[in-house]
Amino acid sequence: MNMNIQTSITISTAHFVHTANPSSKCRRLHGHNWKIFVNVNGNIENDGMVMDYTCIKNVVNKLDHKTLISEELASKKDIDVHDIHVNGKHYVLPVEDCIILPTPSITSENIALYIRDELQKIAPSAKLHVKVYETEGSYAEI
Ligand SMILES: [Zn+2]
Repeated sequence: MNMNIQTSITISTAHFVHTANPSSKCRRLHGHNWKIFVNVNGNIENDGMVMDYTCIKNVVNKLDHKTLISEELASKKDIDVHDIHVNGKHYVLPVEDCIILPTPSITSENIALYIRDELQKIAPSAKLHVKVYETEGSYAEI
């Protein structure tokens, strides 16, 4: 039987959008409380679930209270820090406070894609719908 499940999770992260227009405030390191909705459409499996909500929470909560860094910028100076030179700025951030995402920049669009792709690995046949609110009225949806 096919069914929809949905959950929402709020996480806090820091990020900066190094690809934004040079005059954009989004280039500066700043934070958001992202509200993330995940909708999964699929068959009810033998365990009685379309997808365990815990799987969704595990994927999303990996980002919580971290600084999100595009893999294009990530370079470890040593085992403890990321040493990032971008747009004339130099960031040195503790590795344990960061998560590197396989995205060209850290935007709500790319976060939505990342979450969708990670969940698709867990449930290859499910239809996934991810909505990432950066602010109360602004979101990316896939
Ligand atoms: Zn932002």
